[in-house]
Amino acid sequence: MDYLPIFLRLDSRPVLVVGGGAVALRKVRWLLKAGARVTLVAPRLHPQLQAFALRGELTHLAAAFAATHLANAIAVVAATDDPATNTAVSYAAREQRIPVNVVDDARLSTFISPAIIDRSPLLVAVSSCGHAPVLARRVREQIEALLPARLGALARFMGGWRRAVPRRLGTLARRAFWERIAAGPVASRVLSGDEPGAQRALERELTVAQVADPETAAARRTPGEVYLIGAGPGDPDLLTLRALQCLQQADTILYDRLVSPQVLERARRDAELIFVGKESGQRGQQERIHELMVRLAREGKRVARLKGGDPFVFGRGGEEIEVLAANHIPYSIVPGITAALGAAAAAALPLTHRRLAHSVTFVSGYQEAEAAPDWRWFANPRHTAVVYMAVAQLPAIVARLRAAGASAAHPVALIAHATLPEQRIVRGSLADIVELAGREQIVAPALLIAGEVASFVPAGAVAAAGECTGAGARPPVAPARAAGSRPSPAAGALA
Ligand code: SAH
Repeated sequence: MDYLPIFLRLDSRPVLVVGGGAVALRKVRWLLKAGARVTLVAPRLHPQLQAFALRGELTHLAAAFAATHLANAIAVVAATDDPATNTAVSYAAREQRIPVNVVDDARLSTFISPAIIDRSPLLVAVSSCGHAPVLARRVREQIEALLPARLGALARFMGGWRRAVPRRLGTLARRAFWERIAAGPVASRVLSGDEPGAQRALERELTVAQVADPETAAARRTPGEVYLIGAGPGDPDLLTLRALQCLQQADTILYDRLVSPQVLERARRDAELIFVGKESGQRGQQERIHELMVRLAREGKRVARLKGGDPFVFGRGGEEIEVLAANHIPYSIVPGITAALGAAAAAALPLTHRRLAHSVTFVSGYQEAEAAPDWRWFANPRHTAVVYMAVAQLPAIVARLRAAGASAAHPVALIAHATLPEQRIVRGSLADIVELAGREQIVAPALLIAGEVASFVPAGAVAAAGECTGAGARPPVAPARAAGSRPSPAAGALA
């Protein structure tokens, strides 16, 4: 190790900064955040540094650097664009044994400043020891994506209990207790913004820990919980940051057929993966899922219930939280990008548009007779209907739209495997979509977007992936339209 990472308490202590430009500004911001008393030596100041000086947040000396400026300073930062000045600062500081940092010059520095993730009071500092600052920043970004935004709140929350816990738990039980708090439902509550709930949950945990024998497995075990996670339409980069964080935490993952292998790759390496997908017509599978979630959580597992798209859009997420609540299993819900939104983006089809449609409906292609919605509204071309589960039902869906008053020319787009490498987009009308889907061998999962927006192509646009293929591949599917339909403004762009 060339350097020892340490955290310096600056609280009202004098720090000298030499330089008045944008680089100095960046350093000054961090120093002020950490409570330093900053003196700035520079003949000229960046306007934002000037503002700091005017508000009295730092002291400005409009002068060239002189060694006397170092008096009292506990650290000094040289941030000028003049190598001679930076070198002079470095020599003077080292002579007086004052830690010095010359920005972007490790050789002239006795300390270096890391890339910082600030979830105060939790801090992460990353450094390449001057070898590759860009790499250090990338690492910081990668770590940052894994750290929940409310991690600082969790650290503060735990800090708030640090005195009370030792009064009620012995040394042996304490460590196991804090492990359970940091990794279990109490933390999940704080991280999702429910501090009162977390306080109550922690009190309960503390009571349990007090009566339990610290040697027994029951007391050491983290209480189980379930994360109901939307995995998005398939592309793993469309997972939310929170979904990723939960996937990194989960011990066991119950996943559906629609969850792509690419998404599963993002799970913790040693997590247990259990496939619970429903094959059509299979009975009792939903009950098996309920049973599994409850049993695994009772065993103390952190269970990720991972569903395609969003758990609350045709995902039976509602039923699953009913079961969890009835069994007193803590759960949290992580929304996902539902297939309609993924497909619309993939095909560059706006679901609403000031000229074309002012409302949108998500509807299932399967009709349950007693709860059938009124399709007359969906037949309006100025309304967008997104029909999920569209492949097997396609002829029936077309018939339903026609019966509800839609014309044969009503524009539609069938989008399969949206956001995945095998994505396919077929544009047409109610007159020809069944034939086109057959010819193009479209297979589930796919959804149908019906309405004016389905023929939308911005002028000059290039085709989306899977829509227009290059030489040697499948023939491109041009936006086929029945005679009489209005051509879109840039129909030629796809051909
Ligand atoms: N909860 C999911 C929907 C589950 S129902 C969500 O919010 O997206 C299953 C249907 O979703 C499929 O029949 C299909 O219509 C649609 N679907 C899911 N993933 C899809 C994808 N990548 N491309 C197109 N349609 C998809």
